Amino acid sequence: MDRRQTLRWLTGIPALIIPAVAPGPAAAGDPDGRLNKSKAEWAALLPADAFHVLFDEGTERAGSSPLNHEKRDGTFICAACYWPLFDSSTKYESGTGWPSFWEPLPRALATKTDFRLIYPRTEYHCARCGGHQGHVFNDGPKPTGKRYCNNGVALLFVPRSEKLPDLRT
Ligand SMILES: [Zn+2]
Repeated sequence: MDRRQTLRWLTGIPALIIPAVAPGPAAAGDPDGRLNKSKAEWAALLPADAFHVLFDEGTERAGSSPLNHEKRDGTFICAACYWPLFDSSTKYESGTGWPSFWEPLPRALATKTDFRLIYPRTEYHCARCGGHQGHVFNDGPKPTGKRYCNNGVALLFVPRSEKLPDLRT
């Protein structure tokens, strides 16, 4: 291998290790904005049902989340890292039994396509910690036509009158 080939080989490495999660804004103590914890760390921090959905690709039973009925003004944040994901102004009643939104907050989510169903559906994750939140479909209301179908157990609701919690580090 000559020098040029070696350089090409070395510069090819970063492309292989870039995580699938898009960068979020920088957070304290986390210069690139991401929070990388192992599954074991999350398992120790989160209730079992939230861990199963967020980091074990689970889906909660339809109709099981109290957040289905949450109609107050406020912000829905990631239950793992507390990153703000949805504003209550974009929540709507989809009739599916899962909290549904027609638009996420800017830079809230990262997506990948999930082929476990017969038709591909797009799975999305918290952009900061990579926790699995739900799936997005193209049958939502105006103005976006999108339906972000979210597991309630993967979210926490913060009423507008309360301060958002500091991001988990
Ligand atoms: Zn998160």
